[in-house]
Amino acid sequence: LNSRLAPMGTTIFAEMSALAVATGSINLGQGFPDTDGPEEIKRAAAEAVLSGRGNQYPPGPGIPELRTAVAAHQKRFYGLDFDPDTEVLITAGATEAIAAAMLALLEPGDEVVAFEPYYDSYTACIAMAGGVRVPVTLRPPHFRPDLDALRAAVTDRTRLLLLNTPHNPTGMVLTRAESEAIAQLVRERDLLVVTDEVYEHLTFGPEHIPLATLPGMRERTVTIGSAGKTFSFTGWKVGWVTAPPALVSAVRSAKQFLTYVASGPFQYAAATALALPDAYFSTLRTDLERKRDLLADGLTAAGFEVFRPDGTYFITTDISALTPKGGMDFCRELPERCGVVAIPNQVFYDDTEAARSLVRFAFCKKDEVLTEAVERLGRLK
Ligand code: PMP
Ligand code: GLN
Repeated sequence: LNSRLAPMGTTIFAEMSALAVATGSINLGQGFPDTDGPEEIKRAAAEAVLSGRGNQYPPGPGIPELRTAVAAHQKRFYGLDFDPDTEVLITAGATEAIAAAMLALLEPGDEVVAFEPYYDSYTACIAMAGGVRVPVTLRPPHFRPDLDALRAAVTDRTRLLLLNTPHNPTGMVLTRAESEAIAQLVRERDLLVVTDEVYEHLTFGPEHIPLATLPGMRERTVTIGSAGKTFSFTGWKVGWVTAPPALVSAVRSAKQFLTYVASGPFQYAAATALALPDAYFSTLRTDLERKRDLLADGLTAAGFEVFRPDGTYFITTDISALTPKGGMDFCRELPERCGVVAIPNQVFYDDTEAARSLVRFAFCKKDEVLTEAVERLGRLK
């Protein structure tokens, strides 16, 4: 293994999901729903397979039906106009979009400024592209971005900002004022933005503001979305990029040599899903908000300090009141102690000390599963 990837080890999601299976624990670690998305969307996938749509290589940029549906979604929810032919690219999940964007846009040595904690593929993809990550740390209890620190992190070598809102693992959602301040810095310093908005529909109160909607930002922003989160089909791996033609074309140049194309039949199903009525999106939100409160209240009662998230399906907690141990040791022992799996937030940080006692729980699970998990966690005290 080369020196760029060697420090990355095995992803924590694989380690913790394997531990959940081995110990028969409730898996609140890796973020995936325990209930699939809508029946009609499953049927759309099955029908695509059976009617022979997408069973052979689909077009490199993605099937026209899905590119059109992605553009229509950006218009319907945010008033953004994208040309499906030149400004939309379909990828194998958001993960490939992130990788392709880094490989396409970075020269070796270019700096990427990002808020940490970051989703673990960011560090790996920046490294694989030969870039250098420059973290700006988000801190409890609110995990709001320190805009002065962000400004100070930008240097002459900075090529782009890699953003994520709503933010995994903290659940922080950038406000309009914060987004505007970030946009101003980006324009001033002539940077690009790659913004990971896979949790765009998972917000509980605050509005999701796509960076591309702010003045002067559409032309310098690569926006990443995914069907995995919005439609509860994380196994389908259908993601997308929207950006101006030159940026889409650059990302596509890298993407064509990573996977060439994303899975065909699921693209047809994702196109159907993006056209679901507004009620689908609002029900998803209210269901998840109830689950958030169920788990947050249970964790609080169990002795965790809970940082109630505004978005995503993750809750970050502090375990200091329960144990002097760090989150990594705590999470490795938790399955044996009470049959629950969680993720130590340390793995999302360079500044691991800042996250020593932080632990993340996923709440995209059935109410009865969350109730059982809370009961088990209640025995820790
Ligand atoms: N970005 C973030 C912030 C994530 O949490 C995830 C994981 N689900 C992804 C990207 C990857 O999305 P996908 O499954 O579509 O590759
Ligand atoms: N995004 C999911 C999470 O943060 C996991 C995705 C993965 O397993 N790579 O839990």
